[in-house]
Amino acid sequence: MTSSTRPLLNRRLAEFGTTIFAEMSALATRTGAINLGQGFPDTDGPEEIREAAVRALRDGRGNQYPPGPGVPELRTAIAAHQQRRYGLDHDPDTGVLVTAGATEAIAATLLALVEPGDEVIALEPYYDSYAACVAMAGGTRVPVTLRPHEGAFRLDLDELRAAVTDRTRLLLINTPHNPTGTVLGRAELTAIAELAVERDLLVVTDEVYEHLVFDDAEHLPLAGFPGMRERTVTIGSAGKTFSFTGWKVGWVTAAPALVSAVRSAKQFLTYVASGPFQYAVAEALALPDSFFAGFRADMLAKRDLLAAGLADAGFAVFRPAGTYFVTTDIRPLGESDGFAFCRALPERAGVVAVPNAVFYDHREEGAPFVRFAFCKRTSVLQEAVERLKAVR
Ligand code: PMP
Ligand code: GLN
Repeated sequence: MTSSTRPLLNRRLAEFGTTIFAEMSALATRTGAINLGQGFPDTDGPEEIREAAVRALRDGRGNQYPPGPGVPELRTAIAAHQQRRYGLDHDPDTGVLVTAGATEAIAATLLALVEPGDEVIALEPYYDSYAACVAMAGGTRVPVTLRPHEGAFRLDLDELRAAVTDRTRLLLINTPHNPTGTVLGRAELTAIAELAVERDLLVVTDEVYEHLVFDDAEHLPLAGFPGMRERTVTIGSAGKTFSFTGWKVGWVTAAPALVSAVRSAKQFLTYVASGPFQYAVAEALALPDSFFAGFRADMLAKRDLLAAGLADAGFAVFRPAGTYFVTTDIRPLGESDGFAFCRALPERAGVVAVPNAVFYDHREEGAPFVRFAFCKRTSVLQEAVERLKAVR
């Protein structure tokens, strides 16, 4: 310990405290409540992919440092996935970078591209690591708020346009969007792309929920819009799509100059990670379309189960077009403070949820919204729905 009165934690990080996901999962463990807070599945992904990881471990593939950019098998599989699903061409050697989850991809991208003083525009509510990484890079975050309109959280394109200044370096987009479940449509993405081109901005797009879109929503990668290939960093993750969140395999796809910049930061963060798991994820990405369709159908049924249960319990429900989260409004229950509501919920109903306010700079805008995750077994969701009747 130093005897100085200067705080140990530097001022860039001082405002962040403990991530809400750790806090709420600890609350669930302590109280024995059903954890619909932190977004992780309670069953593992495909058995054959788990076996692929075991095989890699046994065969000694990835047990020592893999190559810095990721093993060639995985980079090739990522490039093939982007081509097969979206018609986007990336050279596996120069256009793809494997990271320790999307979390490291976000950190490395922002540390690489942001100079102190640069402004970064992010959709609010924003995933919590965006704010922390912008701060670590010395940038200033500029939130543009998604607001409820006709049952969904919507981006106001005029507000987005008005948020751009001469100091804006990049737009940090997330679709499908955590926590609101909004999936940006063609018109919105076209407008974002036009704005980026007009103002010569970089775009970082977090598309980790790309395979989780429901009903008639469609995931469209921003990188596919006119003028975007040279200015867009796209972030993906195996955690969400294949239900192995603990493996921490993520990736960046982008034009070679951008990948090279991101790699410059990434090499000094983890250098490399998840060796044997990289081989397994390469096999996962090559699974037939029926796997992805089955995963989506399973999550859709779970969404409908939880959304109906929450509505029955008296919440106003924003039915998500994507992700595995449902955002609710607690005001119909006579409540207005999501923080207090979530802290009391284990006691009241034996369930844990996340207050969306933590994802806002404008905390008052997020105060009445609470997020529930539905990536859980059907029996667990049924039990949660039963218990939530207690809040009525
Ligand atoms: N971005 C978003 C929007 C997320 O919800 C998450 C995590 N759930 C991540 C990034 C981090 O992904 P990973 O676990 O691959 O680091
Ligand atoms: N992304 C997950 C969520 O939104 C949590 C990931 C984490 O705990 N960092 O719940």
